[in-house]
Amino acid sequence: MPRESLTDRAARAKQIVALLKKTYPDARTSLDYDSVHQLMVATILSAQCTDERVNMTTPALFERFKTVEEFASADISELEGLIQSCGFFRSKAKSIKNSAVALVEKFDGKIPQTIDQLVKLPGVGRKTASVILGAGFGIAEGIVVDTHVARISKLLKLTAHTDPVKIETDLMKVIDRDDWIRFSHMMIYHGRAICIARRPKCGDCPLARLCPSAKTTN
Ligand code: SF4
Repeated sequence: MPRESLTDRAARAKQIVALLKKTYPDARTSLDYDSVHQLMVATILSAQCTDERVNMTTPALFERFKTVEEFASADISELEGLIQSCGFFRSKAKSIKNSAVALVEKFDGKIPQTIDQLVKLPGVGRKTASVILGAGFGIAEGIVVDTHVARISKLLKLTAHTDPVKIETDLMKVIDRDDWIRFSHMMIYHGRAICIARRPKCGDCPLARLCPSAKTTN
């Protein structure tokens, strides 16, 4: 099979996005939050943990610590206790507290609105920064690549890479910038509903005719 040109891949990606929009018109982050800082905390907690579990954990946490300043002065053992069920609770508690300290010291308690500034906060990587910018501020500086986005993008042959940064670069070349934020949400929905890891329902998949992996995974 001849190698697909970048132009052809971008055209196929456009059709994929259009079908995803039709299939998942309300796709959004499933994390619950009332402020961008709460979104940041929830996103830190969601590493290696389901959004459902995070949403069960955050009500008590956000009730106990209401502001960035309160998180910054939190007792670390108390914080650990409140987030224990999310796994990796020691390092997550450290990230939540230390990022709040940095926000208070360097940004007057406000969340910065660029990836470069966000990734300098303790515990905030590129993925978390993109989530905060996209879902929190509606700013598309990158594409969030989680396990669903990585897996399905590879199946759809929108990338050949496994490294999230390289996948993101490939996706940014073929997805319209206006769709960067929504693309990740829709792929996550698709990964939960149809293109399920190890048992994708290709027969029910609206993307099947555009997916080079459709036949082999049935
Ligand atoms: S056709 Fe199959 S492998 Fe391709 S995206 Fe759909 S469910 Fe996933």
